[in-house]
Amino acid sequence: MIKPDAVGAGNTGAITKMIEEAGFKIVAMKKTYMSKERAGQFYAVHKERPFYEDLTNYMSSGPIVPMILEKDNAVEDFRKLIGATNPKEAAEGTIRKLFAESIEANAIHGSDSDENATIEGNFFFAEIEKF
Ligand code: GDP
Repeated sequence: MIKPDAVGAGNTGAITKMIEEAGFKIVAMKKTYMSKERAGQFYAVHKERPFYEDLTNYMSSGPIVPMILEKDNAVEDFRKLIGATNPKEAAEGTIRKLFAESIEANAIHGSDSDENATIEGNFFFAEIEKF
């Protein structure tokens, strides 16, 4: 999911290009928006964290671009492509190093397991039966 800071800064195209050039197939993609409540559902796992309130405000602050991606070893390879959560710690050439503003407004989200990729794919694209 391309997050509100990157969509707002006009980086959707550049980020999508990097994703495709890294060998990911875009199975589904759309520009949409999460209410604060829905952002809270998406990040329910972080409910007890001190940054939860800020995070859900930020994630509902503007449009987002969720995608379903396909590739061998997709979860691990995508985490490598996006870089560390904190852009200050992200490796050179990663999406977060290039485009993230801060540890919160960090340009992009990637699922952390195949299981969560299915859950998160369904969260945005329930109409696509395969996922
Ligand atoms: P990710 O898997 O790399 O996205 O990282 P996490 O699952 O740990 O955190 C989810 C999201 O919460 C991150 O991508 C950030 O947008 C935000 N976040 C994580 N840690 C912090 C923090 O310490 N402060 C703030 N404000 N936001 C954070």
